[in-house]
Amino acid sequence: MNKIAIVGAGRVGETTAQMLAEKALAREIVLFDVQEGLPEGIALDILQTSPFFRFDCRIRGSNDPQILVDSELVIVTAGLPRKPGMSRADVLESNVRIIDEVTDRIMAFAPDAMVLLVSNPVDTLTYRVAQRTGWGQGRIFGQAGVLDAARMASFIALETGFSARDITTIVLGGHGDTMVPLTRLCTINGIPIAHFIPQDRIESIIERTRKGGAEILALRKRSSAYDAPGAAVAAMVDAIAYNRRRVIPCVALLEGEYGETDIAMGVPCILGEKGVESIIELALNPDERADFERSATAVRAERERLSEIH
Ligand code: NAD
Repeated sequence: MNKIAIVGAGRVGETTAQMLAEKALAREIVLFDVQEGLPEGIALDILQTSPFFRFDCRIRGSNDPQILVDSELVIVTAGLPRKPGMSRADVLESNVRIIDEVTDRIMAFAPDAMVLLVSNPVDTLTYRVAQRTGWGQGRIFGQAGVLDAARMASFIALETGFSARDITTIVLGGHGDTMVPLTRLCTINGIPIAHFIPQDRIESIIERTRKGGAEILALRKRSSAYDAPGAAVAAMVDAIAYNRRRVIPCVALLEGEYGETDIAMGVPCILGEKGVESIIELALNPDERADFERSATAVRAERERLSEIH
């Protein structure tokens, strides 16, 4: 890609920028943040890793939104992270205001860009950006399932002692306690995980995956997770930059898929150079369908709170 912008030069934004640079996923990577000096400082710091990682993309940071001009993709990580004991929904009110401001800047300075939402609560904020921009399903999407699936794969690797490289997992639904790990489709090099792991241990892996973010937050105390989130975003950007057409879960705007409309939540998508190319509709069994609907109900309840925020 020619130019990628990251809005929000906090922990997730900085980690993402470093990973995109190391993988040379764009000729130019820019950081925008409202904190004076912060994006410039981070850009310089990352630039100075270039001799080690041998990348030659340009990295700049600024408090001036003009820096967004000509971005093909804007990654939004601006907003408050939750504190220990808080759910993602607890930061909705403060983050909606931030995201509205960020959205208006993207519309003004990068009106042709795709937008990848990371800020939480990511399902509701992806929906909010889609509503505010009026841009379609393909251009507005969010990161949740790539991270949740990676967490689950890591826990399966810990449980079995097998290489994480061979583990394929898929997690749909909202990015919260109601997320839907599809264990039926999780495999270790094609072999269903149930072959290796007893059902009660699979249940505890699911539970740990659902609480994966909270576990890290409780341990770190002063920050929520950012290493794996940055890597998850970089994996999505890699799919876009190389038009890989990867089949990965994204937070996408549903227009009748899975029987849902007027909502954004995690579903398997084909991700390529134009963003979400299409949504894959899986034939869910009755239990999975019930879990998906429960998750949609939770995401919808959060979305309804948007009308109370002015
Ligand atoms: P952070 O506090 O380190 O960084 C947030 C940054 O946003 C700060 O630098 C702040 O100055 C900036 N900001 C605030 N208002 C802004 C505005 N109007 N314009 C531009 N920048 C603005 O937080 P973090 O740990 O990097 O987390 C960022 C967000 O990502 C949080 O909402 C967090 O919950 C979310 N997150 C999502 C996932 C996911 O899987 N989707 C994973 C981890 C974190």
